[in-house]
Amino acid sequence: MRFAEALQRGGFRIGTPYEETFEIEDAEGTRRTLKLQLIGHFRDSNGDRVVIALQPRAPQNFDGTLNWSALKDYQLLPFVLLHQHHSGIRPLLFFGEDGALGIFKWRRSRPEEARNEHAERARKAVDALSSGSFEAIPDDWMCDRCPSRIICPCWIGAATAASV
Ligand code: SF4
Repeated sequence: MRFAEALQRGGFRIGTPYEETFEIEDAEGTRRTLKLQLIGHFRDSNGDRVVIALQPRAPQNFDGTLNWSALKDYQLLPFVLLHQHHSGIRPLLFFGEDGALGIFKWRRSRPEEARNEHAERARKAVDALSSGSFEAIPDDWMCDRCPSRIICPCWIGAATAASV
């Protein structure tokens, strides 16, 4: 409900909703499905492809926009991959606790280069994971908060730090 209200306040009218599954090809040519964890993906009445990711709450001093540097790598990934795949998107964030939409801003300096580098790193990670190579630097503080800890190769003894 708050999401629908935020869209309305932002002047968005959902035209065509997209339910597509995103796939990425690894070095062997196998297509892997990536879950992009979006809460909105549609073409709005202006013809823009709108892509919306969820964040728990807006940062302090939120002014309606969020910069590239404010997001972690995994949070940037859906925007970067979809932007490349569709030759342009309109990326937004929805802050659940605040019921507010934020406009995501690409890196101001050489945005295309930043997107390409980011996508390339993701592709290399997919290649490495699909070939059984897992690189990580376990850290007690970070790992205790990681949703993947229970299946992480570093913690179940299937891999050693920064290797394999
Ligand atoms: S639990 Fe594994 S995947 Fe998660 S942060 Fe630690 S090393 Fe990385």
